[in-house]
Amino acid sequence: MKNRIFLSTPTTHGEEQKFIKEAFDTNWVAPLGKNVDEFEREMASYVGVKHAAALSAGTAALHLAVKLAGIKRGDVVFCSDLTFAATVNPVSYEGGVQVFIDSERETWNMDPKALEKAFEKYPECKMVMLVHLYGTPAKVDEIRAICDRHGATLIEDAAESLSATYKGSQTGTFGDFSVISFNGNKIITSSGGGMLLSNDEEAIKRARFYATQARDPAPHYQHSVIGYNYRMSNVVAGIGRGQLLHLDEHRDLKEKVYNRYKEGLAGLPLSLNPYPDYCKPNFWLSCILLDEGCGIEPYAIMDKLAEENIESRPIWKPMHLQPVFEGHDFIYCEDTPVSEDIFRRGLCLPSDIKMTEAEQDEVIRIIKSMF
Ligand SMILES: *Cc1c(COP(=O)(O)O)cnc(C)c1O
Repeated sequence: MKNRIFLSTPTTHGEEQKFIKEAFDTNWVAPLGKNVDEFEREMASYVGVKHAAALSAGTAALHLAVKLAGIKRGDVVFCSDLTFAATVNPVSYEGGVQVFIDSERETWNMDPKALEKAFEKYPECKMVMLVHLYGTPAKVDEIRAICDRHGATLIEDAAESLSATYKGSQTGTFGDFSVISFNGNKIITSSGGGMLLSNDEEAIKRARFYATQARDPAPHYQHSVIGYNYRMSNVVAGIGRGQLLHLDEHRDLKEKVYNRYKEGLAGLPLSLNPYPDYCKPNFWLSCILLDEGCGIEPYAIMDKLAEENIESRPIWKPMHLQPVFEGHDFIYCEDTPVSEDIFRRGLCLPSDIKMTEAEQDEVIRIIKSMF
């Protein structure tokens, strides 16, 4: 059997070990220590925000963001429809009610027109959860302006888009809060973990408070609110620090993968996940969108690749189609929802940065052979 070609797996470099060793040598094998503090500082500085709280997962960071935004039982929250469930689940943890917002075609992210329409229907909505899907920045200016006009808190789920820029600024700098993830499949990994980012120092302090069991400042154990155990381990933070040294290099390699697909698949009735020229994605995953009526289904390509031990994945199934969110409202402007259309015609291709050119050529050859 040929070596398996993966969608996106960890790529490590050795420096991770140095930071882990330091944690062991100093016995900071705990959810606090120098690696945690430094990783927070280094990450905030890289993205261009003032403060960061290192947490056990991106999902934990999303949960605390929803909490800090003040979402209570029954509150409506507008959420990107085309995304991974982790973006929207934390709204439910706080009892909020997701209303899903369709995508536009230029970035596959939240459609500002649909968002505006949603505010007409639910003027009381106080929070918007925006994802930058597959590493492509959403239409941030338009969405930020709509949120400001309606007094809503904007949360950016930048879990997939770390290092992507929108008009020269990093994703993660536009929301009141933003979230990044270091899960194993992301552009850099700490083996698992996440961060909450914000310029609001008090909010980040509050996040650390919630993340360490909400202990009141008293000599005895006293609690006035419900807390969580969400802090990142100092060992894990060491892996993250080692990885951060290679983030830009990973981004450049991801872009190379994308551009080689773009060239290699040119002329076929399909296009790659699009992006406007004023932004620079991190190209986390390269995806294809098959032309309407081209006669090939994404699943046929997926199966064919699987026969050759090559991993590909369907596009995230839109949230409004998920059984768990049955009955939730979905706001769209086109005749056919864009998210459904992308789901039906799209496929994520192997985008692992350890994939050799020969391996990628093989993926391209197999796809071409189907047309
Ligand atoms: C990976 C991911 C998350 C969750 O991050 P974890 O660190 O795995 O909890 C959230 N949102 C999106 C869009 C993701 O891709």
